[in-house]
Formats: sequence, structure tokens, C-alpha cells
Amino acid sequence: MILEWTIGGQQHSRWLSPGTTVTLGRSPDCTIAIAHPTVSRRHAEIFNGGTSLQIRNLSQTNPVVVEHYGQVVSLGWGQQSPLPVGAQLRLGEIAVQVKEPTALRVRCPGPCGKVVAVPASGFCPNCGTALATADTFIG
Ligand SMILES: [Zn+2]
Repeated sequence: MILEWTIGGQQHSRWLSPGTTVTLGRSPDCTIAIAHPTVSRRHAEIFNGGTSLQIRNLSQTNPVVVEHYGQVVSLGWGQQSPLPVGAQLRLGEIAVQVKEPTALRVRCPGPCGKVVAVPASGFCPNCGTALATADTFIG
């Protein structure tokens, strides 16, 4: 699965590696840093179970809103929810889309630095680097 969001007209997207947990927030220490003042420093955490995603709110003051087919769920501190493909997530004023990675290509952050199609394993086929933190290029 991938997450896609726009800040100030610039589109960002990140691929979620199966079996891993990522943190989302304004802090640069987060796995996925979303630099916007309405996003909490550590706002949410997403676990990718391979076939499904789970999201948990890490912010005591800022809810995480999950929208899917017109259903809107607001998560308080520590609350968890499934995060299906097609859902939209709101962190402060930032809307994050959850999408299926069709023809997803990323630039490998490892020694090879090549643009590669993401294999199911989540590791670069050239140099074996985990692609979880790579920026995504879709197309
Ligand atoms: Zn590589």
C-alpha cells in the first residue's frame, strides 16, 4: 500500500513495506515526516500487516480522522482502526490517501540508487536495501 498527500501544491507519496510499522508526524524523527503546522509532532502510527493496514493515534490532543465510503471515524489518543485501501486519512489539515501500489517504482535509497519496480519482498532486487523509506515515483 502507498500513502499519498499534497502540501502546498506538491505531491508526496510513500510506500509502506509489508510487516513494518511507520510513524507519521511533523517531527523529522518520524518515519514519514509531514511538515505542516496542523500535524502533531508524533501524530499516528501505521502497521502494514501485508494484506491490511492498521492505524493508531499517537496524539493526545489531535484526532486522526479516517474516511472510507462516507464513513467517518475520529480516533482519540491510543485508539486504533483498520485502514482500508481507498480510505482517506486526515492529520490536521492534511488529507492522506491510501492506495494500492500499481506499477510502483521507487528510487533505491541504498548503494545502487536505481529506480526499481517494488517487488513483493520490499527489498531492492539490485542491492538488497529495504525500500520502505524510499521516495516513490509512480507511473
Ligand atoms: Zn538498490
